[in-house]
Amino acid sequence: MSLLVVGSVAYDALESPFGKVERTLGGAATYFSVAAAFFTHVNLVAIVGDDFHPKDEAIFRKRSIDIEGLERASGKCFFWAGRYSENLNERITLATDLNVFAEFKPRLPEKYRNSKYVFLANIAPDLQRDVLHQVSGTPRISAMDTMNYWIERTNSELQETLKHVDILMINDSETRQLSNEHNLLRAARRIFKMGPSTLVVKRGEYGAMLVDKRGVFCIPAFPLEEPHDPTGAGDSFAGGFMGYLAGAGSKSDTALRRAMVYGSVLGSFAVERFGLERLLSLKQSEIHARARHFAKLTQFKL
Ligand code: AMP
Repeated sequence: MSLLVVGSVAYDALESPFGKVERTLGGAATYFSVAAAFFTHVNLVAIVGDDFHPKDEAIFRKRSIDIEGLERASGKCFFWAGRYSENLNERITLATDLNVFAEFKPRLPEKYRNSKYVFLANIAPDLQRDVLHQVSGTPRISAMDTMNYWIERTNSELQETLKHVDILMINDSETRQLSNEHNLLRAARRIFKMGPSTLVVKRGEYGAMLVDKRGVFCIPAFPLEEPHDPTGAGDSFAGGFMGYLAGAGSKSDTALRRAMVYGSVLGSFAVERFGLERLLSLKQSEIHARARHFAKLTQFKL
């Protein structure tokens, strides 16, 4: 089953207490696609400039990621720079240069239009909606991410987009900001009134929580002794989650719970090394071994 993603393909400069990289391939749609391609075929919609390097293009080409929807424009790729605090829990954005992204008007290639699974990564909510409207018919599952920037500056656009998606996947502070509720269960109830029927709250080192009308499911973060760089963890989580659902072709409660596990698995691998490094060396067998480890980690008798 094809999974469509729209979002940023970027160059990132990253600093954490464990080191520094000056320029590495990043972007929400990049992490998402690489993570999701372990489970299903991915159709990527994004824009890059003429500094986009062939060795980075090869990362997509070598995987089950279609890049017909990766538009080329004259100018530079989106550039983002960030620095993490000592405990990796806080991040400061040092630079966000939209570059070619500023003029991005996503156009779906004909063959992407019948995608049944759609993920709208963190970009302007009107662009997210524009992409969703280019998909023919109603997708089996549509999901989206967003961030404080859009919640604060384009709230009415965001509210319009929310009306059209099934799953909202955001972090805990975004959940509280969007709903004006501190308690995450009450926040979920408010968010359901905005449109989505499922809320997935990404809680960093505290794991993730799924809330829908059937109830709540929580998963811990995989305990790691030495995470190096949290960049892209949320997008890799989303890639594992949506990739699993598209690959399984199901949206049953069991499938959603497994998707939470695979989301956590991919997120946990992403933080082990800088940038995409760990996801690029990752093997299918390691994913399944860690998923089994998750099952052990969360099992108990009553
Ligand atoms: P995350 O760590 O999940 O927040 O995602 C980090 C990735 O998102 C980085 O690789 C950045 O290139 C990309 N990014 C950062 N800010 C933005 C933004 N405003 N819009 C789109 N992508 C962004």
